Amino acid sequence: MFESIASGHTLADTTRLLLKEGYLTKHRIVKRNNGKEVDIGGKKFREDIIHRLIRNPFYCGLLKHKEELGKHQYERIIPKALYDKANDMMNRRAPKMQIIRKVDRHTHLLKGLIQCESCGCTMTPFPSGKKDEHGNPYLYYTCTDVNHHKSASECKVRSFSARTFENTIIQYLKELGNNPAIINRCIDLANKGSDGDIKRLQTQEKQIRKEIERVTTDIKNLIETIKKGGSPTEMAKEANRLEAERERWKLELEKVQVESNMKKVKQFDGEMIKSNLTRFAQVVDKVSLEEKKDLMQLLIRNIRVSPLDITKAKVPAEKGAFDCKIRTSWYRVLINVFEIPSLPLTYDEQANKFVFSSNWLGD
Ligand SMILES: [Zn+2]
Repeated sequence: MFESIASGHTLADTTRLLLKEGYLTKHRIVKRNNGKEVDIGGKKFREDIIHRLIRNPFYCGLLKHKEELGKHQYERIIPKALYDKANDMMNRRAPKMQIIRKVDRHTHLLKGLIQCESCGCTMTPFPSGKKDEHGNPYLYYTCTDVNHHKSASECKVRSFSARTFENTIIQYLKELGNNPAIINRCIDLANKGSDGDIKRLQTQEKQIRKEIERVTTDIKNLIETIKKGGSPTEMAKEANRLEAERERWKLELEKVQVESNMKKVKQFDGEMIKSNLTRFAQVVDKVSLEEKKDLMQLLIRNIRVSPLDITKAKVPAEKGAFDCKIRTSWYRVLINVFEIPSLPLTYDEQANKFVFSSNWLGD
């Protein structure tokens, strides 16, 4: 068994081999709580059993005790070198043993993300009964209004092929990810407002600081006047007024600073969008349909689809929007991406591919 794994056979191959040779697990008599003695061995090998055995250092003469490996006095069954070799082969195979998600041919990658601009409804997944030549069902996104009112609905978007639309969106995001220039322009557009805002806030902050300085000087002068002997009641009144004014300006300063900080954070998030899109472009073709869906759901906040009369449409489209043709109809599409901190992907060098962080994938 160790030799089979060490020579590069998979767990499945090794299991088949052992079954063919008629090997069974070791006979072991255990005493149950009710006093009965049962033989829990003598069973056919399964992949999980072999996996456990290969991983058990007992067979090469070691015993795990309190997280440390020590030698035990029992007879060593296999040489340490063979044990190491078999485990090394298993480790190499480990990335391939990742849970492969069930391929759901009905998966709608953009479920819940598309909005029909014609009636303000969500476009929901809609599988038609028909299948293509590969046995894949034709999938659609259909406006909820059309779903409810059927032919009576006045919706101009109505329904379109899910896979065609999804591929267009993936293509668009990939282009963004592969094209720093386009991303930069998008981020610039998104930040244009806040850029101006930051400058305005900085000017405001300067003015407020000046006001605070002025009031502080006024207060100092007032104190000097009191020392020289002015009317105490008048002076006290004036001092209170100046103090209150200074407090007001300080509060104003704080507000401006908080706002300014928030704007700066927003600009930082633009960088996040950039790195996420670049990453998306790198991985999207290498992941399963389900993982693709997870990616899309993470990246995209929403997609707004409007009907488009291509003969009347003005070119170019408005900021951040693009026009696309699905079958015979044209649509104007607007994608709003999320400012998520970063995609939960890590690069597995050994497997030469991106792997989703397990805690995020769930089960
Ligand atoms: Zn609609």
